[in-house]
Amino acid sequence: MPAYSRPSRFNTVIPSEIVERVKQLVLVSNHIVITCHVSPDGDALGSSTGLCAVMRALGKDVRIVTADCPPRSLCFLPGVRDIVSATRQPELAARLLGEADLLFCMDFNSLKRVDRLAELVEVSGAKRVVIDHHINPDIEADTIISFPQVSSTSALLYILLYQAGWARYLSRGAAADIFTGMMTDTGHFSYNSNDPDLYLIIHDLLRKGIDKDNLYKLVMNTSSENRVRIMGYGQYRMEVIKPHRLGLITLSREELAEFDYSKGDTEGLVNTPLAIPEVTWSVFMREDEKDKVKVSMRSKDTFPVNLVCEECFGGGGHENAAGGEFQGSLSEATSYLLTILPKYDKYL
Ligand code: 5GP
Ligand code: MN
Repeated sequence: MPAYSRPSRFNTVIPSEIVERVKQLVLVSNHIVITCHVSPDGDALGSSTGLCAVMRALGKDVRIVTADCPPRSLCFLPGVRDIVSATRQPELAARLLGEADLLFCMDFNSLKRVDRLAELVEVSGAKRVVIDHHINPDIEADTIISFPQVSSTSALLYILLYQAGWARYLSRGAAADIFTGMMTDTGHFSYNSNDPDLYLIIHDLLRKGIDKDNLYKLVMNTSSENRVRIMGYGQYRMEVIKPHRLGLITLSREELAEFDYSKGDTEGLVNTPLAIPEVTWSVFMREDEKDKVKVSMRSKDTFPVNLVCEECFGGGGHENAAGGEFQGSLSEATSYLLTILPKYDKYL
C-alpha cells in the first residue's frame, strides 16, 4: 500500500494559496530560523524539530532558536540537541535571528510568548510564517496558519507538509517529533482527540517507522526519582475547594528546593486533580523565583481557564489548558486566587 494515499480531505484543510505561499517563501529563503514559545513543551518542540528536519531534507540552512532551554525529559528527541537557546547562547541566538530571511513561529500566537527573544524577532527583517493552534493570533506575519480546532501545532504541521508535498521528506526521527507533539497536547489522546483525521496522521507516522509504544514510555512514563516524589507530594498536599469545584496545588520555593526541583519535574501535576469527579478545574501555582509565581490551569468541559488566565494572571491559552503568572509571593497568589473564584462560578 502506498504510504501517501491519504484521503483528499487533507488537501483542503489549509487553503491552497497559503500552502503555495509557504512553499514560495521556503524556496527563496537561504537562512531559516524556527522558534517556539518559552518553556517549550512537547508540541512546541516536536513541531519545531519536525519542521527543522524537513527543511534540512530540502537542503535549507536552518536552525531552531528558543528563549530558554528545553526540559530534560524531551532531550531524547534527536533535533533538540541542536537547539540554540538564548539563555545559553545569547550571541549565537541574536546572530541567527539577525541573519534569517525566513522565520517560522511555532505554537504561539503572540510575541510575548517568546519572552526574551521578542525584541530580536521584532527587529529581524525575516519574513514570518506562523503555524499555531491558539485562538486569536495577535502577531504580525506574512502568512498565518492558525487553526484552533486542530489539537496540536504538530498535527497542523503534518497537514501542511502533506499539502505541500513534503511529507515524503519526513524521516523516522521527524515523524517521532510530530507524534510527540500530537501526544503531549492531547494527554496521550485523552482530550481534544476525537477528530478521526488525527488517527490518519498517526497511521502515516507509524508507516514512517516510529515506535509509538516506546515514545509513550519516553514521554509519558519516564520520571526521575525527584519527579516521582514531587508529583506524589503535590497531590498529597492538594486542596479541594468544593464550593468552587476547584483542585488547588501549590509548591513554594522552599518545597521545590527540598525536592531538588528541576524544570519539567512538575509537568502534568496540574492535571491530576481533574481525576476527581467533583473537580471541574484545577490550578497549580509554583513559586519559581522570589515574587514570581507560574500559574497553570486545566479544566473539564467548557470551563474557560484561558479566560481566568487572561483576566487575572496576564496569560492565556486554551479553554481547557492555560497559564499565566503572578507577581508576588505564593501566599499572595493563593489569597488573590481565592478572591476571584466566585466570579467564575457561572461557568461551572
Ligand atoms: P502549561 O500549563 O502547560 O504551562 O500551559 C498550558 C497552555 O497554556 C500552553 O500550551 C499555552 O497555550 C498556555 N500558556 C501557559 N502559560 C502561558 C502564559 O504565560 N501566557 C499565555 N498567553 N499562555 C500561556
Ligand atoms: Mn500546542
